[in-house]
Amino acid sequence: MKEDLIQFLWEQKFFAGKELICTQGQRLYVAHTGTKNTDAGPDFFNARLKINNLEWAGNVEIHVKTSDWYKHNHQKDKRYENVILHVVYEDDVVLNDKDGNLLLTLEVKKLLPPSLISKHNELMQKKTLIPCEKVFVKPREIKLNLWFERLLIERLEHKTKYINDLLLKSENNFEETFYKITAKYFGQKINAQAFEMLSQNLPLIVIAKHKNNLSQIEALVIGTAGFLDLHFEDEYLNFLKIEYEYLKHKFNLQSLDKSIWKFARTRPANFPTVRLLQFALFLYQNSQLLSKIIKAEKLKDIMPFFQLKFNHKINLVALHNNSQKTSEKEFNLGISTIENIIINALIPMLFAYGKIHNLPELSDKSLEWLLQVPAEQNSVIKGWEIFGIKAKNAWQSQALIEQKSNYCNKLQCLRCIIGKEILLAP
Ligand code: SF4
Repeated sequence: MKEDLIQFLWEQKFFAGKELICTQGQRLYVAHTGTKNTDAGPDFFNARLKINNLEWAGNVEIHVKTSDWYKHNHQKDKRYENVILHVVYEDDVVLNDKDGNLLLTLEVKKLLPPSLISKHNELMQKKTLIPCEKVFVKPREIKLNLWFERLLIERLEHKTKYINDLLLKSENNFEETFYKITAKYFGQKINAQAFEMLSQNLPLIVIAKHKNNLSQIEALVIGTAGFLDLHFEDEYLNFLKIEYEYLKHKFNLQSLDKSIWKFARTRPANFPTVRLLQFALFLYQNSQLLSKIIKAEKLKDIMPFFQLKFNHKINLVALHNNSQKTSEKEFNLGISTIENIIINALIPMLFAYGKIHNLPELSDKSLEWLLQVPAEQNSVIKGWEIFGIKAKNAWQSQALIEQKSNYCNKLQCLRCIIGKEILLAP
């Protein structure tokens, strides 16, 4: 038995409105369960109880066993002096209050239906993608939509924290921060970390100094990534190599070891070399991008930022050092890559910017845009479809990803709307 299940049931008024009998024989009626306390001290404040028809108001403490009171040293803690009821799964010792009187105790062991305990046990076993698979109960649509909204805000707030950390490191430079987040999602999952390292070694301010020269931006990006350390037969690549050596020295840049880039299991169009060149072209085409996005009214207004105008002279075959070609068509960013960047970099940045600058219209715009982006397609989203929950847009798919990573994976079933439905269903 876990204490948080009893706390959950108390909070959900599972014991309220019934006539109960305390272990000392008093009749107990719970009129108001009190306010949950998330800090130190008793679990619930200001509960209202009727004990043998007399009204009492005070705090409630919850434990698995009565003896936990002593284990946690509450007898020496003044904050527990106003506890009027001790709710326990098992009453295993006699417990006196500070005046030496028996502390009123409610033992709930016999009040819990075996089906509830077995459903809770089922939830606590992390065997499947969604641990409640066998006992799943789908909440009503209206409840689910409200829950999605809460999950989505939680997700964006987590991302805002990450953005705040980056801002701190870049002395509150929003464009630099946005550049770093965008870089991460250019790398997709497989090269996200390498792209993050690239953006750390290559500050946006250096790119900005060469914003009108694509060759120099290519030299900076591919060179810092570590791909210009060879001698090339190709004339343009050798030109970039010389250019990079000069810029590296000028800005005191540190090249990465190219072994950090992962080619395995990626199609030529997703090779990191292709992604790096796309990134260079993206940076060349879009300086001061965050300011433009802030000004954009509609989601469709930002789509041209991702349309890369293929005009580079790089011999990709020579750069890959293998025989696989990447066609011009493949060089364009695919729609799923664009949507991934919008969902994970652009929307959170806009949301965070709105929050930090107290511009609610920007945070609202980010949420509105999220509604217009199609739902992501991945194993988590497909996993939810088995339960009849199909994400209609990126708002809902982001909410479902948050549900999985911060509720299901951490077995936070007692804080989840589905968990509540399961446990409180008759
Ligand atoms: S957190 Fe909710 S959805 Fe996830 S396993 Fe628990 S009850 Fe199910």
